[in-house]
Amino acid sequence: MKYQYRDEKTECMPRRDLEALQLERLRRTVDHALRAPFYRERLSAAGIRDGGGIKSLDDLKRIPFTSKKDLRDGFPWGFLSIPKEDVIRLHTSSGTTGIPTTIYFSRDDLARWTGYVARCIYGAGCNKSDVFQNMITYGLFTGGLGFHAGAEEVGMLVIPSGPGNTTRQFRLMRDFGTTVVHATPSFLLHVETKMKEEGVKRESLFLKRAFAGAEPYSEDTRRRIEELLRIDVYNSYGLSEMNGPGVAFECQAKNGLHIWEDGYIAEIINPDTLEPAAGGETGELVLTILCREASPLLRYRTRDLTGFYDEPCPCGRTHRRLRRITGRSDDMLIINGVNVFPSQIEEAIMAMKEVGNNYLIVVEKEGVLDKLTVKTEVGPDVFMDDSRPLNALRERIRKTIQASITVNPRVELHEHGSLPVSEGKAVRVRDTRPKDV
Ligand code: AMP
Ligand code: ZN
Repeated sequence: MKYQYRDEKTECMPRRDLEALQLERLRRTVDHALRAPFYRERLSAAGIRDGGGIKSLDDLKRIPFTSKKDLRDGFPWGFLSIPKEDVIRLHTSSGTTGIPTTIYFSRDDLARWTGYVARCIYGAGCNKSDVFQNMITYGLFTGGLGFHAGAEEVGMLVIPSGPGNTTRQFRLMRDFGTTVVHATPSFLLHVETKMKEEGVKRESLFLKRAFAGAEPYSEDTRRRIEELLRIDVYNSYGLSEMNGPGVAFECQAKNGLHIWEDGYIAEIINPDTLEPAAGGETGELVLTILCREASPLLRYRTRDLTGFYDEPCPCGRTHRRLRRITGRSDDMLIINGVNVFPSQIEEAIMAMKEVGNNYLIVVEKEGVLDKLTVKTEVGPDVFMDDSRPLNALRERIRKTIQASITVNPRVELHEHGSLPVSEGKAVRVRDTRPKDV
């Protein structure tokens, strides 16, 4: 395969040069950070008074972690390190759990961010002849504007459709010959369900690729989207604290997500001991952003669970690859004492072809016990009025889930396309248990 790069020299840079570049940028970032009220205090307490005090990448360990709570405590200006009049944009996280966290950008910050997103898009094999439909939320959420700018930089024709309204999405795809889409994986599955419902023929569309991210999904879900929509799906990872999309992305080898190490320092730690995870072990991703001056973040605990692949990638890029992010350490459900990650349930059911494109996990209190219910849609070829095969299917799903998580779930089957779909990130878990028990 002929791999494509935006900036081959940087993307395939020898590790030693890449690490030297990281060190230089880390020093500069620490200098910037010392201008922000939060870090002035935090870094001084750790004995770090200027970037020059960082002698090697190993010195990163001297810098304390930054948490989501720190970001909230510093709201709104505690992390700002340049004069307010030099800030030209802000984005916030979704903020459903209280005070949102805010990230500021200077003009140069936006240009750098755009460059990383463009790098991802080239890496997936796209070019200026592509037509790009950005079916993800615009606004404070970084996915919309981030990809919009990156795609324009590549020179693709950009259709800023945003999510929702599948009838209009199909019309846009047909009218303008869309070849690439960007969406959450759950929305892509919904698009496929709607395609069938609305009688849209795959042959009438020109789709080749999709960028899917903003939420965890399994390899089986990727395969399902690829087969159903007959497209190539690339995993896209980012978070608003680290600009948004453009942090890590799959190349055409599709074997893990290259994290752009000239812009980010990635560490994987054991979330309990806070020590580095050994080798390729799974742990919590900790990120330091090297490409933003307006609001630097050092050793930010993302809560996202992943690990490194160690072998070199056939594409020749030297930037390390992250494994598919399976979820967040704070996603974990404790059901009657057993730890369960929603991604384990997704992995178990999405490999079954009779299972449809959508599911919902419900956890409730029943007396003193926790009760887990998994509601899944059935595929379009499964008839809901034939109870014998349905009962057998329900039982098979129950056993498959139980084998994976050891908890015995109640399984409910729902008609294809009948479970709720959200326009932004999918809401996969409804936990109605009282919070204080
Ligand atoms: P936000 O700050 O609202 O953009 O949300 C960022 C979070 O979304 C990340 O910290 C991850 O938990 C999740 N996320 C984004 N992209 C992916 C992906 N490709 N796979 C798994 N989780 C993702
Ligand atoms: Zn690669």
